[in-house]
Amino acid sequence: MAGIEITALHKRYPDGTVAVERVDLSIRDGELFVMLGPSGCGKTTTLRAVAGLERQTSGDIRIGDTLVNDLPPAERDIAMVFQFYALYPHLRTRDNLAFPLRAEGLPETEVRARVAEAARMLQLEKLLDRRPARLSGGEQQRVALARALVRRPRAFLMDEPLTNLDAELRADMRTEIKHLQAQLGTTMVHVTHDQVEAMSLGHRIAILNKGRLEQVGTPLEVYNRPASLFCAAFIGSPPMNLLEVEVSEGALRTSGGLAILPPPDAPRGRPLVAGVRPEALEVVAAGEAGAVPARVVSAEALGDEIIYVVSSGGRDLRVRMPPTSRFAPDAPVGVRHTGGPPPVYDPTSEELVA
Ligand code: ATP
Repeated sequence: MAGIEITALHKRYPDGTVAVERVDLSIRDGELFVMLGPSGCGKTTTLRAVAGLERQTSGDIRIGDTLVNDLPPAERDIAMVFQFYALYPHLRTRDNLAFPLRAEGLPETEVRARVAEAARMLQLEKLLDRRPARLSGGEQQRVALARALVRRPRAFLMDEPLTNLDAELRADMRTEIKHLQAQLGTTMVHVTHDQVEAMSLGHRIAILNKGRLEQVGTPLEVYNRPASLFCAAFIGSPPMNLLEVEVSEGALRTSGGLAILPPPDAPRGRPLVAGVRPEALEVVAAGEAGAVPARVVSAEALGDEIIYVVSSGGRDLRVRMPPTSRFAPDAPVGVRHTGGPPPVYDPTSEELVA
């Protein structure tokens, strides 16, 4: 087992595209670390550089105490699991699992013991004699995971391994990966563009945008205090309302008059952007105390909650309400802030200021 230390990693492709820009990451030994960001932000390039499949332009990568910049993938002692399962179609599960071990020249008794152990951990015992064509997508992905596992690598690198699975299977596999990682205690770096996956899996999450690192934090840190407007708009479903405000009469106020509890250190006398979660707002009957007038634009009933979009002061606000709330589209209502002080951003630098 080993931590992974990435220092000033920079990758410029021959056509001039800068995919990763001086990224520093310190992934702890035994951590389930998620790299999250939209398509093209540089996640895969970073992971491939760690795996040794892509050579960085500059910067250092250490796995444990070893500087691996010049080591070929096979000597880095890590296992990579991809979005596409990459199983050998002509081999049965047991031989797909045994393949990397036989390639290493391990004695057959050891190979059998390790295959049996991995099959047990991923509940593949009944599938050991099937070929990939007779396995479902979820089962194939479990075999791919088991094949990474048998090698007992120092770290696992997972590149969107759940993308091809349907929603229910994805949720199951998330639980399985989390459980597996906790059992093994092996460092795991998991790449995804799906923020729900990142939040539910990661001990910590790194958010990347256009090759740059925007934030590293626990799921709650990232949710409660996004480090930049990019992170604020990216994390959460639906995401935060980003409201232009100024400090006035003890509150953050929008031009529509909505009053928001201010953080104590919110700078005065200049425009700010408040990141207000949909659950920190409330739709109420028109005219209620502390509410500004609004109109219901839409109501999305999701079973356990209703997401309202209300229009107030010339802009739309997303509000999360209990399923019992009843406000009809087009109804005149009120909206007010009920949460604690929100994170506040500078509109120019787009960084968190309070
Ligand atoms: P996705 O989720 O779509 O895989 P990603 O975050 O993993 O995206 P990368 O695949 O790392 O992003 O790509 C980062 C940037 O580098 C993108 O702009 C991409 O177009 C570019 N890129 C990737 N590979 C190459 C290449 N071989 N040559 C030139 N540019 C590349």
